[in-house]
Amino acid sequence: MRAAARLLAILILAAASSAVAQQKHLIDPTPRGSLNPVPLPPLKNPDAPSTPAKELFARKSTPFPGPPRSIGGYFDGCLAGAVPLPITGPAWQVMRLSRNRNWGNPELVRFIERFAENAKKVGWNGLLVGDMAQPRGGPMRSEHRSHQIGLDADIWFAPMPDHEQSREEREFGEAADVVAPDQLDVDRKVWTPTHAKLIRAAAQDPAVIRILVNPAIKKVLCREAGADRAWLFKVRPWYGHAEHFHVQLGCPAGSAECKPATPPRAGDGCGDDLDFWFKESTLHPPPSKPKPPLTLAGLPPACKQIVKAP
Ligand SMILES: [Zn+2]
Repeated sequence: MRAAARLLAILILAAASSAVAQQKHLIDPTPRGSLNPVPLPPLKNPDAPSTPAKELFARKSTPFPGPPRSIGGYFDGCLAGAVPLPITGPAWQVMRLSRNRNWGNPELVRFIERFAENAKKVGWNGLLVGDMAQPRGGPMRSEHRSHQIGLDADIWFAPMPDHEQSREEREFGEAADVVAPDQLDVDRKVWTPTHAKLIRAAAQDPAVIRILVNPAIKKVLCREAGADRAWLFKVRPWYGHAEHFHVQLGCPAGSAECKPATPPRAGDGCGDDLDFWFKESTLHPPPSKPKPPLTLAGLPPACKQIVKAP
C-alpha cells in the first residue's frame, strides 16, 4: 500500500513537472516514442485538394529514388533521393526511431558525420540526433513547420552515453532542459561550457547557415563568447529549443530547386535584437490560432509527384 502511494505521488509529480515544462517552452520536448508504433490508417480521400500535405508525407516510409533533390523552401518543400543517417555511428546515435525522421539530403548526413567528430574534439561525447526529415521530406504531423527539405536537424542537449542504446532507451530517454525555470538564463546546474563549445563547433561548419536556440541560450553565448564572435551571427533565438538545438544547412551547390533561406540579420544578434525575446508578452504569449495546414497546392509541383509515387 505504501509503495503504491509512493508510486502515485511520483506519477503526479512527473505529470505536474511535464506540464510546467510544456508551459515553459511551448515547443519542446520531443514526446516519447513507442516500441510498437501503429501504422497510420489509410486516408479516406487522399486525392482531395483539401487533404493536408502532412498526412500524405507521413504515410511514406521510403524515399523517392534517384539523385538527391531538396525542393522548395524549408517551410514548404519536399525531398527526393533522401538517405538515412545510420542509427548508430562512431560518434552519434539517433533517438526516437519510431518517428522515422532520420532522413536527409546526403549533405545533411555528411554534416552530422563531420559535426559528431568535431563535437568529440571539444569534449562532447557524441551526438544524440533528434528529428531530421521524413523519407520524402514535406510537412510533418507533429512538432515542426520546417525540416521539409532534408537540410535541418535537431541535436539534443545531452551527450551520447558510452554504450549503444537499446530501442527502449532511444524511445523513452529524455534530453536535458538547459534553461532556467524563469526562462531568463540558462540553468547552471545543467549548462556547461562544453554546451557552448558544441554550438560553436556546429556554427563554424561552413555548410551551416543558421542555428536556433532558446533566447536564454543565445544570451549566455553572447555574454561568454569573448573576442571570437563571428560564429554568433548564425546562432539565433527562437521559441522552445531548450532541450535541443536546430541546425539548418544552406542549399547544397547545384540544387537549383532549393529555395534559399533568408540569411540572419547582420551582426552577432547580441544587442537590442535580444530584448524582444525577454518581454513578458514573448515569454508568455497569448494562445494563437493555428494556421490552416499546407496542402499540396502550397508546395512546389514536383512534390506532388514525389509524394504520390509508390
Ligand atoms: Zn528543428
